[in-house]
Amino acid sequence: MENWEKSLEKCVTSPEELSGLFRVPGAPLSPVVSRYPMRITPYYLGLIDAPGERIWRQCVPDAAELDDLAQSPDPLDEERLSPVPGLIHRYPDRVVWIASSACAVYCRFCMRKRGVGCAGMAPAPLDDAVAYVASRPEIRDVILSGGDPLLLSDERLDAILTALRRIPHVEMVRIGTRVPVTLPERVTPRLVRMLKRHHPLYLNTHFNHPKEITAQSSKACAMLAGAGIPLGNQSVLLKGVNDDPLVMRSLMQRLLAIRVRPYYIHQMDLVQGTAHFRTKLAQGVAVMEALRGHTSGMAVPHYVIDLPGGKGKVEVSGGRMHEDGRRLLLRNYLGEEIEYPDPGVPARGDETGDA
Ligand code: SF4
Repeated sequence: MENWEKSLEKCVTSPEELSGLFRVPGAPLSPVVSRYPMRITPYYLGLIDAPGERIWRQCVPDAAELDDLAQSPDPLDEERLSPVPGLIHRYPDRVVWIASSACAVYCRFCMRKRGVGCAGMAPAPLDDAVAYVASRPEIRDVILSGGDPLLLSDERLDAILTALRRIPHVEMVRIGTRVPVTLPERVTPRLVRMLKRHHPLYLNTHFNHPKEITAQSSKACAMLAGAGIPLGNQSVLLKGVNDDPLVMRSLMQRLLAIRVRPYYIHQMDLVQGTAHFRTKLAQGVAVMEALRGHTSGMAVPHYVIDLPGGKGKVEVSGGRMHEDGRRLLLRNYLGEEIEYPDPGVPARGDETGDA
């Protein structure tokens, strides 16, 4: 058994274990964990300085997760847009393949928290997914996502990549993974040797805070980059984690130093169970203003909203405020103007809360 598999066996998965380690009450978290599973790797746990700090908020369950019922568990309509279970076909020329439903750490802000780590989401069956992609010549880009594709065995991942490489119209494959951040020991020489056989291969990872850039995560990224895999990063703007222009600037600069190109900053999706992480749109705009012109252009990612209803990603800078000051009007890739409620502004008739 490889070391990373042993690390997975040693993960903290119950409120009782957490309580023993940090002297916080575990009982209030039990109903949360029954609904949304917890898993924290020993490595990621080691980055926590104290309860409530920025790594803690990303991985430790919060009772607030059960209070947020106003939003949909699947606001991007991924299930409706899946011609094969686990294969999301939203844009004409690319598909997202849910390759695994497991992750090393179950992030509390996950946009797929309806299903990661539990029965709510199954990986796409290999034969069905390959048959679908092969039957659609317009698909030139396949994104392996999850869950985390790098939690698959090397052999399983190799089988998926080999099957995709045999389809002539698939020009490239991208892997979305948080493993360099949460389980860096998973990036082994054996894995990297296998990945190297499947170029052109791109990998987007998911650092949210400069504390996550350590000797171990830097080494994992260096191994991947050394195999010729271009690395990008998608951060999510999270209240109490990185909704601070200076924190974000430091993160973007340090990513470039470990050969990871900042790609996106995502406005939090309107996913059920994540309201306590949502920031005002103005906060994201302030972050971008602190980046543009103040640091290398390569350190400036796109600040995007993934529009509800599967309408696609749009850059926030391309929007205009509605006269009522409560909604942003955004034009998507189809030319449709879509309303997006500012999560920081209460809806009419609900003037008391600060969502
Ligand atoms: S690693 Fe990605 S898919 Fe998995 S829980 Fe975190 S955000 Fe969600």
